[in-house]
Amino acid sequence: MNSTGVLEFAAKNKTQILDLRFVDLPGIWQHVSFPISELDESSFKDGFGFDASSIRGWASIHESDMLLMPDPSTAFMDPFREAPTLVMIGDAVDPLTRKPYGRDPRGVAKRAEAYLEKSGIADTAYFGAEAEFFIFDNVHFDSAPQHGFYFVDAEEGRWNSARETNNLGYRPRVKEGYFPVPPTDHYQDLRTEMVQRMIAAGIDIECHHHEVGGPGQAEIDMRYNTLLKSADGMMMYKYIVRNTAYRAGKSVTFMPKPLFGDNGSGMHVHQSLWANKKPLFAGDEYAGLSEMALHYAGGLLKHAPALAAFAVYSPSPKAKRLEFRPPDPSCNPYLAFAAMLMAGLDGVKKKIHPGQPLDKDIYELHGEEAAKVPTLPGSLDASLAALEADHQFLLEGGVFEKDFIDTWVSYKQKNEIDPVRMRPHPHEFHLYYDI
Ligand SMILES: [Mg+2]
Repeated sequence: MNSTGVLEFAAKNKTQILDLRFVDLPGIWQHVSFPISELDESSFKDGFGFDASSIRGWASIHESDMLLMPDPSTAFMDPFREAPTLVMIGDAVDPLTRKPYGRDPRGVAKRAEAYLEKSGIADTAYFGAEAEFFIFDNVHFDSAPQHGFYFVDAEEGRWNSARETNNLGYRPRVKEGYFPVPPTDHYQDLRTEMVQRMIAAGIDIECHHHEVGGPGQAEIDMRYNTLLKSADGMMMYKYIVRNTAYRAGKSVTFMPKPLFGDNGSGMHVHQSLWANKKPLFAGDEYAGLSEMALHYAGGLLKHAPALAAFAVYSPSPKAKRLEFRPPDPSCNPYLAFAAMLMAGLDGVKKKIHPGQPLDKDIYELHGEEAAKVPTLPGSLDASLAALEADHQFLLEGGVFEKDFIDTWVSYKQKNEIDPVRMRPHPHEFHLYYDI
């Protein structure tokens, strides 16, 4: 849709409100609304002014005024609001220079796509994400000087089997949520409703199913799309999943590890490079991959010291892609996809070989063999140290600015690592209270 198409689309849907959205540094969708009468052809050139001083990780007070430029290709009708509401995703630009704001994650994704085209290696990168999440019925938590706790409940949780009243008994056994039919699967209809709303909003979906985690874990897979479209799609995906659940009196979380002793939620990301509509990852190397695909994998592995498993799904050349499994669905998709593309391209450029394939279950390896398998950093702190030591590949072509990397590291340190580090962990009372 172009700008004229958006205005026609808005009129046809009797739109009353325009809701403009953008993503903050950690990855939460932010929004500001206008009466639809504020939107006309000039809005797409002039943008909408807003105060960005309170947006996490963005500008300081003295440079707080910013413009949001609506992207007409992102328009969709919000399926949840009472008044007909047209949503567009915007790009943040400096009102004086009109240059893209360097800390806007969507701008990073756009620059990564432009860098790919300029590199001559390929003209299109496709990304397809399989996000997992938990559906809970009751969530409470607090963090104070004298106490800190979380409590989550899921009607599907096996722990509810002993409840004396209002109990129909059908629940997946622990780690057996993948995937008996209803009534053991409580969420078939809810996932279908999520998928129907996503399709109506323009997102292509491949499948949905219960996941291994018994207490309400689910997966919905989006069909691959270009890097930017896939990242925009992931923001819409999370919005629609959360709001569909919320309306049904449920709560969804994408945090990677909400439960002890059960599966966490990951987000496998399928990636492939194309030129002139032809797939570049199919070839005669290992698993029917091309040399370029292997080098791309080499780049991913080099830059994410990784236990990453990647899999190939089908003999069709169009379906040849790499699957990178370490990401989780709480990541900022614009940054994660852009960073993965930059790592892969670095591998292609430098012809980094990924090493010999390890066609074994690495969880079953022991001793010397296990010691030879490199692992990912075990903490956020360690991963930030790895980023500080290795980020030149992200700066290529100005895709990530140095200021962005520095801001990311200091933001995470100050707002996430330090606050967690300074608090006693509840389990420490279990271990040490009587010592
Ligand atoms: Mg899965």
